[in-house]
Amino acid sequence: MTASRAEALSLPPHLRGLDRYESGLPIEQVRSRSGIARVVKLASNENPLGPSRLALSAVAEALPTLHRYPDGPATALRGALASRLGVDLAQVVIGNGSTDLIDLLARAFLGPENNAVISEQAFARFGQVVQARNGRPKLVPMRASTHDLEAMAAAVDPDTRLLYVANPNNPTGTWNRRREIEALIDALPPAVLLVLDEAYFEYADDPDYPNGIDYVRLGAPVIVLRTFSKIYGLAGLRIGYGIAAPQVIESLDMVREPFNSNSLAQVAALAALQDREHVERALALNRSEKARLLAELRRRGLEPQPSLANFLCVDLRREAAPVFRRLLDRGVIVRPLRAYHLPDALRVSVGTGEENDIFLTALDAAL
Ligand code: PLP
Repeated sequence: MTASRAEALSLPPHLRGLDRYESGLPIEQVRSRSGIARVVKLASNENPLGPSRLALSAVAEALPTLHRYPDGPATALRGALASRLGVDLAQVVIGNGSTDLIDLLARAFLGPENNAVISEQAFARFGQVVQARNGRPKLVPMRASTHDLEAMAAAVDPDTRLLYVANPNNPTGTWNRRREIEALIDALPPAVLLVLDEAYFEYADDPDYPNGIDYVRLGAPVIVLRTFSKIYGLAGLRIGYGIAAPQVIESLDMVREPFNSNSLAQVAALAALQDREHVERALALNRSEKARLLAELRRRGLEPQPSLANFLCVDLRREAAPVFRRLLDRGVIVRPLRAYHLPDALRVSVGTGEENDIFLTALDAAL
């Protein structure tokens, strides 16, 4: 056997030039590289309080049954979500995180001749899955760091099948208001599905912030994606869900892996849904600490984007990469945004009071 036979298997043309998703650096890696015992990770918009205790007990209880396959359609969890959200069971699909659903949408709805309309600084995974699935991302510039929904509607052409909008958006934290989303839905031709990614829905406390599920209930061509990774503190288990018309859910169900959500994630999500107190504590912490972080950054002459989520996007007005590295040297992990063509910006998740203090002290030194 020769090595040269494998050369024919080099990157297929549609994957050339595709950016890989850059995730937040793991705490262990930074700890062993820097030798700093107390590493603070504010890089992936996780819940700084951790998972709910109810979710942890449910996981412990389910451990002895790990030799069994999960319930493929996740019936109990879908049932709980359907009754909580006032939709039918047939309108709910579960994903291995909401990124799984972002990918399943491209797999189900895009052929090589199709495109998906996406903002330039939208959540990176949108464009990546479209390209990986051999579709074409059609990128639209943002306006004032916010999805320009009029321009996105204007970019729709006869080959468009999907239009991805994260509301609030990651990494900018900015959001689109009710009347903007409604005007977009009205402008869409029948063959186009609006993917409303509401990963940060629970944090969004502006009266003008729309609940996408209202549009699904009215029969609009919308799928709403939400996740247990953020407010519910279950990012490591990988579980999210989508709410749409039954025929949209059926298409996703046909292309998903039969066991795309694992049994521990299913029971943890079900238990976490019941733990309202944990959610309330996480919301209260985020509200007060986000306001404090904002004020502290402003005191340092920095002006973060307005954010309805659990993170802030801060323009440092100078190259952010050296500041990112100096923060790492001090054991603080944030997210550089070069991949989003924002080389002067950092995204920082709202942590506990102590974590935010460590970040601010390290930032003063790094600046
Ligand atoms: N969508 C947006 C807008 C996000 O910011 C994130 C995570 O950062 C996700 C989806 C991914 O969530 P999940 O962990 O459910 O895959």
